[in-house]
Amino acid sequence: MKVSASLSNSSENPASVLTKVTVLGATGSIGLNTLDIIRQFPQKFQIEALSCRNSIEQLCEQIREFKPRLVCVNTSDQARELRESFRSGHSCPETEFVWGMEGLKQISRDPEVDLVMAAIVGAAGLEPTFSAVEAGKIVAVANKEPLVMAGELFVQTAKKTGAKLLPTDSEHNAIFQALHNESPERIARLILTASGGPFRDLPLDEFEQITLDEALNHPNWEMGRKITIDSATMMNKGLEIIEAHWLFNTPVEKIDVLMQRESIIHSMVEFIDGSFLAQMGLPDMRVPIAYCLGWPERLPLKIPRLDPVALNALHFEAIDEQRFPCLSLSLKAAKQGGGAPAVLNGANEKVVAAFLNEEIRFVDISKILASVMHVFDETLQQTKPDCFDIIPDFLLNILSLEDAVEADQWGREQAGEVMEKLH
Ligand code: NDP
Ligand code: MG
Repeated sequence: MKVSASLSNSSENPASVLTKVTVLGATGSIGLNTLDIIRQFPQKFQIEALSCRNSIEQLCEQIREFKPRLVCVNTSDQARELRESFRSGHSCPETEFVWGMEGLKQISRDPEVDLVMAAIVGAAGLEPTFSAVEAGKIVAVANKEPLVMAGELFVQTAKKTGAKLLPTDSEHNAIFQALHNESPERIARLILTASGGPFRDLPLDEFEQITLDEALNHPNWEMGRKITIDSATMMNKGLEIIEAHWLFNTPVEKIDVLMQRESIIHSMVEFIDGSFLAQMGLPDMRVPIAYCLGWPERLPLKIPRLDPVALNALHFEAIDEQRFPCLSLSLKAAKQGGGAPAVLNGANEKVVAAFLNEEIRFVDISKILASVMHVFDETLQQTKPDCFDIIPDFLLNILSLEDAVEADQWGREQAGEVMEKLH
């Protein structure tokens, strides 16, 4: 395995060593931004492996451009068809096509790979991202849901294997930059900023009429559909609190959220001496992605720059929790710990998918999730009418990936039951 430039302590010329990269979820919003950076620095990065689920045409273009050694798709049929087509077309004859969860795990732990960009959306990224951590890779973590489901397991395993978890989510990347190796004892508060999403000013009595298109119309960021809905409900910020708790070893009580309308301040740290350090820039995911790819160096990016003179003002406001009940739900789950975050995350994925399919209304999202977490509390307190004396272990503690998957499934099932009653 070649040593990546970013980890090498030798006097070798950094320009001569390539960081070999796997991109999980290469056809998504984070995946495409990652490839955009890699395209800018061919002397620094080499794509070893790419994955997607259904966007096969887009993946084929990427294969022709980056010539990866490994490609993972969803099904064995897809893998066979691609194998045949690339062999007969004489392009990329060396590319090996693998498929499914085993394939994703294979391209994450491959011994030649130095850095894995975890950019699958949702719980589907749990096992492959964990494989990369078990294999001691540098893992750029955009895919926050696995950390929400099993954060402690990720952090402990990374300590054992020497894997490095690099925060790619813009807020966490901002904090990572601001912290710059300061110890957790010096942190007074982590302040995650939030744009407030498309409904930050909508009168509360108009929430009942919110449409899918309105919810998908984020004012500041262009992202995948699931995270865009999470941003509109502010579940995203709740998941980010849990993510920050694990990434920065900071109690949930020391993590606050502030609205920053312009999405220019990407988050900040308040230290015990009263200093605040913030990271700012235009809302462009290529900046945190490039920071992770180049870490601990900075890459000379060719992207539009922030002009501070053109900024009229920066606005900060407290969050109105009545407007965003999902934020309160996730904060409560964060404080409860155990299986609560994984249950809430699984339920949220199920409910958001239903909203994206126009099966439920926007306002139903938080109502269904509140019902699920109510059942969770009743189950733990043994007050649920049909529950007897056994509380599943995975609701109490997440000690393994299997626990995380079971808690996630439990949350999805409860959400399904609540949704059935709605119809
Ligand atoms: P997208 O929906 O745009 O992309 C998801 C990627 O994962 C696609 O390549 C998709 O393949 C693949 N994928 C989806 N489901 C599966 C599955 N079940 N198995 C295997 N592959 C799958 O998501 P984003 O890029 O927006 O987000 C990715 C992650 O990064 C999320 O966890 C999100 O919270 C986080 N994040 C995203 C930000 C952003 O700006 N977008 C900002 C901060 C964090 P296909 O195209 O074939 O469906
Ligand atoms: Mg974010």
